Amino acid sequence: MNTKDTQNFKEKLLAEKTELEGELASIGQKNPSAKNGWEAATQDMEVDKADENAVADKLEEYEGNSNIVSKLDDQLTEVNDALERITAGTYGICEKCGQPIEKERLEANSSARTSIKHAHK
Ligand SMILES: [Zn+2]
Repeated sequence: MNTKDTQNFKEKLLAEKTELEGELASIGQKNPSAKNGWEAATQDMEVDKADENAVADKLEEYEGNSNIVSKLDDQLTEVNDALERITAGTYGICEKCGQPIEKERLEANSSARTSIKHAHK
């Protein structure tokens, strides 16, 4: 991969990172002791404890947010890892076979770790 391509993917990854962090910040909060540093926000959890339905709704919402946060967080980890590979000069190399990853695959998923052939375990 040439320098210009790498630069393009780097910009794409940085944009994805900003977007993911924005989404995470809207429904989650940073917590250094959480698995990847993010957890679902709890500041809106103040409900009338006597109202069981409200409590159940909030818990459901919190669980839903937790799932989304953990998904976004995983994506963010992938993006950060890809940015590290750019810095290390190993970006766009398949982790399974050491061959360059197809450009169209990287365009579909700029944090791909493997070639099309090795995409599925
Ligand atoms: Zn491969």
